Amino acid sequence: MGLLTALEGGYGDRGDALVVDGRAMSRERLLGAAGAVAERAAGAEALAVLARPCAETVVAVVGGLLAGVPVVPLPPDSGPKERAHILRDSGARLLAVPAGEDTGAGEAAKGIEALPVELTARSSGAFAEPAPERAAFVLYTSGTTGAPKGAVIPRSAVAADLDALAAAWQWTAEDTLVHGLPLFHVHGLVLGVLGALRTGSRLVHTGRPTPGAYAGARGSLYFGVPTVWSRVAADETAARALGGARLLVSGSAPLPVPVFERLAALTGRSPIERYGMTESLITVSTRADGERRPGSVGLPLDGVRTRLVGEDGGPLPEDGETVGELQVAGPTLFAGYLNRPEADAESWTADGWFRTGDVAVIGPDGFHRIVGRASVDLIKSGGYRIGAGEVESALRDHPAVADAAVVGAPDEDLGQAVVAYVVADGGAVTGEQLTAFVAERLSAHKRPRRVVLVEDLPRNALGKVLKKQLLDLG
Ligand code: ATP
Ligand code: MG
Repeated sequence: MGLLTALEGGYGDRGDALVVDGRAMSRERLLGAAGAVAERAAGAEALAVLARPCAETVVAVVGGLLAGVPVVPLPPDSGPKERAHILRDSGARLLAVPAGEDTGAGEAAKGIEALPVELTARSSGAFAEPAPERAAFVLYTSGTTGAPKGAVIPRSAVAADLDALAAAWQWTAEDTLVHGLPLFHVHGLVLGVLGALRTGSRLVHTGRPTPGAYAGARGSLYFGVPTVWSRVAADETAARALGGARLLVSGSAPLPVPVFERLAALTGRSPIERYGMTESLITVSTRADGERRPGSVGLPLDGVRTRLVGEDGGPLPEDGETVGELQVAGPTLFAGYLNRPEADAESWTADGWFRTGDVAVIGPDGFHRIVGRASVDLIKSGGYRIGAGEVESALRDHPAVADAAVVGAPDEDLGQAVVAYVVADGGAVTGEQLTAFVAERLSAHKRPRRVVLVEDLPRNALGKVLKKQLLDLG
């Protein structure tokens, strides 16, 4: 069965199967317009797509997939340097843009041919299904821990992912998926758009992920990143309007427990948290009929294996307490990084497991808790290993804390010292009060040595905190 199962028939059709930023398209029209893109793109090394949140982006992506050409989504608001890097690195010489629009790539577009996407174009051509090991995408990582890396994602991995996800969430053609996430990242594009196309469900992309847009969309499934859910939880009318939904799903960054709880209280639905990354799209998630536990991302999906290892590569106990590096194996893994042999060499173990670079705790019951990133969130202080996420959770329990990020700052005495950056929620709160508050919740070695009150935390487009920037603040 092809990657775009539902497009290839058998699920019937609806005039508004796909609604992007207010524009509706039937599957038939999507397939026709995408076919025209596929005819132009056939044989190309790669097809870059300027991934604005519009219907043309979906058409261009589907066109590349039909032609069996690796799709390279470009963040629409990326600067010329990032764009030039992605175009050069991926080898894409063809860039799909909505007809009549500029590539917006400026200098970066030198030597690049524009492929104008027409929503009304039609192709009746049939396309042979490309081999499963062919690359479906080259997706660039978010660049949270360094320069973005191009991950080559085989078609088989996308299919395995989406099937595991559909099974876990009982996601079918009866559903309507609503989201307004960026279309250049795994979450919004691969899980969101392709998930809807593969299951045959209706897709409503709201253009932007605002509480008002979500509340007005009448979905059965909603996708969001934690910043989106935090805004929904702060908007009581919007949150109550989502009470009719079957699943509210959060991913891409940790969902703070207070947001989980407020969302659950207002909507009557506990959210589902899933964990994954560009390199292994969805690794762990709670099943639709499974227990939804705040602070936990759930259990590995069908076919995915995980293990916890120490710095020496040896196994660590899965006792619900021990923090270790999470490694993954299974059919959902990417094939490797593009032009980054050193990153590849660092990322794979001799026995073929992928080093996620995240630190986690696995319970005896198999539930996973993501504590943070090995490079910035595993704090080694005075001989102890401390997960930044645990300290952040304790701080967020304070009613006057809107947001918190914890880092390990270089310290002569301890090696690293726990330092907290906190955004206060309106009311005045002092660093001393917060230190006293967490002292009741955390053992001594985990308590912040310093609490710094800040206006805002530096975040990227998906709401991930850029901790390297915090460390630079000192
Ligand atoms: P880079 O690899 O370039 O540093 P990145 O890792 O942020 O960037 P992505 O692949 O977009 O790029 O993000 C994957 C990461 O996001 C995971 O490795 C993990 O750290 C974090 N993440 C995703 N989902 C969750 C979640 N539910 N809870 C906690 N962290 C999550
Ligand atoms: Mg990463």
